[in-house]
Amino acid sequence: MRYKKILYEYIDTFLNFIYPRNIYCILCDASIDRDEVYSICKDCKGKLRFLGEKTCDICGKPLDELYLVERCLDCINNANYYEKAISCIEYDDLSKKIIYDLKYYKKRYISYHAAQIIYDRLMESGMYEFDIIIPVPLHKAKKRERTFNQASIIGKYLGKMMDIEIDNKALIRVKNTTVQNQLTKEERRENLENAFEVIDADRIINKDILLIDDVFTTGATANECTKELLEKGALNVYVATFATGRNVY
Ligand SMILES: [Zn+2]
Ligand SMILES: [Zn+2]
Repeated sequence: MRYKKILYEYIDTFLNFIYPRNIYCILCDASIDRDEVYSICKDCKGKLRFLGEKTCDICGKPLDELYLVERCLDCINNANYYEKAISCIEYDDLSKKIIYDLKYYKKRYISYHAAQIIYDRLMESGMYEFDIIIPVPLHKAKKRERTFNQASIIGKYLGKMMDIEIDNKALIRVKNTTVQNQLTKEERRENLENAFEVIDADRIINKDILLIDDVFTTGATANECTKELLEKGALNVYVATFATGRNVY
């Protein structure tokens, strides 16, 4: 597998070369100013719903403007294993396009900009002290099919930006779950039960971990990973994702 990894590193470098950062908008391909952050044009930036302070203190989901408490109903009624989750952009058709381009259309260069966005969000939230970064793992069959784990390449860039080691080995996905899009929160939870396994506890013991993923949907994936990490000796688990949707009641 090593040669494959090297090959992808080359492809990554090459793509970064032919897609020089901050020349074209990653969403609409319009030319942009060199100093435009995230390689997204002003127009698209204005349309993306970046999350601010009006988010749930625990799961990071956007809260309605008129909502007065700092936790969403879901987090008031259910306990989560992770300490706190944050996300950057509301999940809608536009942010979905960024994720799909990265995940399914294999535009790997997008991961660098996703990492920048997550980095800025972590800094403004005062979350930067972690021992290691762990990306939510893909099952090996799915990874073979997709050729890479988007969470892992986002995590790689984020690790460089934060000067924190990324660990792709400690936590693995042992259950190849079916697509979860159509499932309810409870079904997702059941579907993910025992889906993750820590195979090298020494790497995570007594560590503050930042778990990385592209999308936070119901939080079932983050919770299941956290549960396993805590059971095997991790100290605390925090979660950062690129996009998240609103709670539907
Ligand atoms: Zn644009
Ligand atoms: Zn919440």
